[in-house]
Amino acid sequence: MAASGNRAELPVASLRTAVDQIAAWVREADGSALGEALIQIRETGIDRLEAVFAEGVRRFDKSGEYRADGALSVIAWLRWRCKLSGGAAAERVTIARQLEQLPKTEAAFARGDLGYQHVATMARAAEHVGAAAVRKEEAQLLKAAQTMDPGLFIGVAKSFEHRVDAAGALAEANHAYQRRYFHLGEPDDGLVRLDGVLDAEGGATLRTALSGLMKPIKDDDRTYGQRCADALVELGRQAGRGRRNAAGDRRDGSGPRPQLVIRASLDTLAGLPGAPAGELEGGGTVPAETVQRHACDSAITRITGQGELEQERAQASRTIPPSTRRALESRDRHCVFPGCDRPPIWCDGHHLVWWTRGGATTLPNLALLCRIHHRMVHEDGWTLERHKDGRFVATPPRDIGARARSA
Ligand SMILES: [Zn+2]
Ligand SMILES: [Zn+2]
Repeated sequence: MAASGNRAELPVASLRTAVDQIAAWVREADGSALGEALIQIRETGIDRLEAVFAEGVRRFDKSGEYRADGALSVIAWLRWRCKLSGGAAAERVTIARQLEQLPKTEAAFARGDLGYQHVATMARAAEHVGAAAVRKEEAQLLKAAQTMDPGLFIGVAKSFEHRVDAAGALAEANHAYQRRYFHLGEPDDGLVRLDGVLDAEGGATLRTALSGLMKPIKDDDRTYGQRCADALVELGRQAGRGRRNAAGDRRDGSGPRPQLVIRASLDTLAGLPGAPAGELEGGGTVPAETVQRHACDSAITRITGQGELEQERAQASRTIPPSTRRALESRDRHCVFPGCDRPPIWCDGHHLVWWTRGGATTLPNLALLCRIHHRMVHEDGWTLERHKDGRFVATPPRDIGARARSA
């Protein structure tokens, strides 16, 4: 491709200078001035430059000049030379091509009156139902775009597409549905990777289910992503427990199904040095502390192997009978960890003197602990005690400094 030479030098140099000046402004600004700087970066900078970029891409696409670089398509060229992902490159090409037929949108974009994501939604709508149909309602759509955030505007655009082309909207939804998948990887280095895509309805259903389970607790230091992950696992746990009635029994009268089967030796249950890890049915291993936590409350876990058999024989069942569980729920009402109010459905029945250390499965030795706090007691070394007045006191592990340092 021929270098455009000197003609480009001046504007690019001015742009650099302008960006340097903006950077200096942002560094100095705080409070509402910083907010104003961020708004201007998008409106006057990024969004308007995207509009210019779209116009350039349109001409570059038509000229076929990208072939001079050896690229087979303008999208391939954008990925390679402009460092965009395939999706981001395709979106810019859609905008470039469709905006030519949407003059009002193009003008608003060029003025900085429309954000990039709103424009992408307009262009996609034009691609789906034809630019002529969008042009008929362009003014109303632009009005909506200027008053709504991009997420809400997608809803308006989708409903417009449905009005003018119901069959097309259905075909698009069906196509999206066909692309759904979910992949749960094999454990690798103690982690299991998830990925997938859902259609809009599936996504909304899952989002609603998760949102009820991801409320932060007091002094919650989990990240948003960690709370999402915990909520997903919790959803799995609660699904396996089945619907319970007010008394905590499953409606179909059966006991809870174990969702996790752990094979562990007696040494692992007892936490002896040199004991092997617990093995999860379905792959992966867990440390002895995790096996001990699961041994605390059998509601969702079955521990198999010699350890289980001998321990059951020696110390009576670790299983909390439904009547004891009900009494525990009515005494504790929520997780007893100081400051936590997670309801019983989130909670395990923790043995204050661990079952693996001979603690009895009776009310005085039990306490409701939500999964996060139960984990802190077993895996992070916190101590939970019940004082004579019934108060629960949690003490951090003595080496918490060392743990925090190594974290
Ligand atoms: Zn426990
Ligand atoms: Zn808790």
